[in-house]
Amino acid sequence: MAAKFKRVLLKLSGESLMGDNAFGLDPKVLAQYAAEIKSIVAEGVEVAIVIGGGNIYRGMNEADTGIERAQGDYMGMLATVINGMAIQSAMEKAGVYTRLQSAIKMESVAEPYIRRRAMRHLEKGRVVIFGAGTGNPYFTTDTAGSLRAIEIKAEVILKGTRVDGIYTADPEKDPTATKYEQISYQECISKNLKVMDMTAFTLCMENNLPIIVFDMNTPGNLKKVVMGEQVGTLVSK
Ligand code: UDP
Repeated sequence: MAAKFKRVLLKLSGESLMGDNAFGLDPKVLAQYAAEIKSIVAEGVEVAIVIGGGNIYRGMNEADTGIERAQGDYMGMLATVINGMAIQSAMEKAGVYTRLQSAIKMESVAEPYIRRRAMRHLEKGRVVIFGAGTGNPYFTTDTAGSLRAIEIKAEVILKGTRVDGIYTADPEKDPTATKYEQISYQECISKNLKVMDMTAFTLCMENNLPIIVFDMNTPGNLKKVVMGEQVGTLVSK
């Protein structure tokens, strides 16, 4: 059976890389994610990755850090490059060819972000990791994921999380909450379901980019998603 998607953008949160730690990186999680990604590359899927930075630094709370918002946001973007280097390293250990491109120039560790070059890498079967978010403060890595996915013409954004999809209510608070298999952008907005921040979400909606929210921590799930099995929640028109 052929994969359902030819090109995907996988969005991973920084926090997922902590595993059971309170901070930083868990080598077990990195190795597991690398193996999951390798399994879809083996199916011929072209994979781009945007990774968050929340496990190292989140810039948004000036009140707690005393660091002004824009400055903190740049620090958060640098954190995503550290995570990108970590996942790159884990994937290369697993035998997957990768390139890291950064929206903030740091030529000793990453290529600068060049859209056409990224697409060329993908065509050659390399996994492309996009670091430093959008390169702009006041944005999130979800927005970077949506933006890059649209730019490189990915068919779908795969949002790997710790929950297995979008629910009618918070399943941890409401035992009657049920999971959507499929939902429209409009319904997410009218029901006030938080899939991504509004900037990221509207970018997907306006460009008709489907989002699949799924549990990245269940081994084999990523492959099921790209093979078209019913996993998680699909958000589309
Ligand atoms: N960030 C930013 N612009 C971007 C992407 C990220 O300023 O385009 C900063 C922002 O401060 C954010 C931090 O980088 O809090 C880490 O990213 P995010 O919180 O999205 O990571 P995640 O929650 O996925 O770990």
